[in-house]
Amino acid sequence: MTVKEAVAKDPGSLIARAYVFAAKAHAGQKRKSGEPFINHPLATAETLAAWRLDEASIAAGLLHDVVEDTPATRESLVKNFGEEVAFLVDGVTKLSRIKYRGAEEKIENLRKMILAVSEDLRVVFVKLADRLHNMKTLDALPREKQKRIALETSEIYAPIANRLGMHELAGEFQDIAFSYLQPQEAKWLTSQVKDEYGVRRKYLESFAPDLERVLKAANITPAKIDFRAKHYYSLYKKLFRYDMDISRIYDLVALRVIFKTVPECYAALGVIHEHWPPFPGRIKDYIAMPKINNYRSLHTTIIGPEGKHIEIQLRTEEMHAENEYGIAAHWLYKEKQTNKTRVDDVMAWVRQIKNWQEEHTSAADNPEDFLRTMKIEFFKDRIFVITPHGDVIDLPAGSTPVDFAYHIHSEIGASCVAAKVNGQFAPLDHELQSGDLVEILTQKNKRPSGDWLKFVKTSMARDHVRVAMKQKDQALRTKRLPTKVEIRIVARHRVGLLKDVTAIIARSHFNIISANKAAGQFPIIRIQCDTADKKKVEALVLKLKKMKETKEVGYQLI
Ligand code: MN
Repeated sequence: MTVKEAVAKDPGSLIARAYVFAAKAHAGQKRKSGEPFINHPLATAETLAAWRLDEASIAAGLLHDVVEDTPATRESLVKNFGEEVAFLVDGVTKLSRIKYRGAEEKIENLRKMILAVSEDLRVVFVKLADRLHNMKTLDALPREKQKRIALETSEIYAPIANRLGMHELAGEFQDIAFSYLQPQEAKWLTSQVKDEYGVRRKYLESFAPDLERVLKAANITPAKIDFRAKHYYSLYKKLFRYDMDISRIYDLVALRVIFKTVPECYAALGVIHEHWPPFPGRIKDYIAMPKINNYRSLHTTIIGPEGKHIEIQLRTEEMHAENEYGIAAHWLYKEKQTNKTRVDDVMAWVRQIKNWQEEHTSAADNPEDFLRTMKIEFFKDRIFVITPHGDVIDLPAGSTPVDFAYHIHSEIGASCVAAKVNGQFAPLDHELQSGDLVEILTQKNKRPSGDWLKFVKTSMARDHVRVAMKQKDQALRTKRLPTKVEIRIVARHRVGLLKDVTAIIARSHFNIISANKAAGQFPIIRIQCDTADKKKVEALVLKLKKMKETKEVGYQLI
């Protein structure tokens, strides 16, 4: 059911109410293309409906831009649609702040951060549907912005879609991005293959009835026969491997035959090979041995009429949905949640995404709780924060600006004095969250503090602070304690003054090491004694101050 149909069918439903709310909030707003803004959230929600996601996701699709772009608040979403929808919209808003700034080496971390910030896979789905419509309407934007968004889609969102098994979407992302990032190559390719696509499609259309007849004669009825045109970008990459010779690409358009059951797929393969010779080395059983990305299907290339090659893909409806929509396809089957195989399938997905992270964490391995597997819990032990340069840093959960600073460079860690998190000053023990933009303020000659050991999370920071503490200890221990005192007296000049001063000092049982006097109206007398006893020195200073010629008396332990 489309969103429009859902709205018409029941005006009181969550989706209908979300539509009315969004239309009101965005009233009068226009997109860059000049069309009413509501078209964008509506298209986003239609995509989510086509992926057959749940009502909350579709409602979030309709509402995904209201908090960011209209006066509507999160509270009003909670009040009208509940915490779940508000949470999903929140997630999408948070994601919109994460931008790819072209920091190549940390690109994998950026992809992980998007999942970590999302917390719930449905947030990722809404974001992907949002991005799909933005890509389809990219021509309304200025050239520079087109390139930035196309690059971000190609480097970040297409790989995420692939990782989630949403290959159709990933292919579409790459195709649109290709036309903006390499417009000349894209144009060349389109002109090369447009006719060829048409020719091959016609050929397959004329072959399909033959195939159907042969299968029916063997008592096998396909649920559907379909044609799959290869995506432009993947074709472009494949052409490179085949000397740009399009006649060597057999799967430009493939025949897709969909069945109800797995045995039908295998039986059909046998029947097909009986009638048309298979091309050697091109039979692939991805049902018995799924691809690493969980793709399942039987593939064969046969020699068809007129000696032409035909690629045929055989699969069940369920495999088809999963190959197209990946992990999103599991909402299609949620009524069968108790089905053991289904839950196992979902777990296979979750494990696969989990493996994406090098360090295994205690994710939901419990098949009891289906929904819990949709929570992105496997990143809960890690956070992903951004440097002012746009690099994404992967840290353990609970990390602080000090951990961040040491991760960047040991010198930055050692000399950090304060931090700014998302532009606001934050204490050094502040707990960082995924998606935070972190900036460290340093001060020359600043040394690490032992207090940091109470809150740092990374062993790197802890080790550095400990080493610095040890060095400080050693410096303290090796530092010589004062053994002498130098007393400075400023006094009015008079004959015999130095003699009188030394006499007072001698009466206090101080051994004088040296005594000298700089000449002048107010001469400075410097006397060094062999004691560092502060109390005794201070008592002496008082006596010296009582002399009537004395202007000032000071001392320093040396
Ligand atoms: Mn949007």
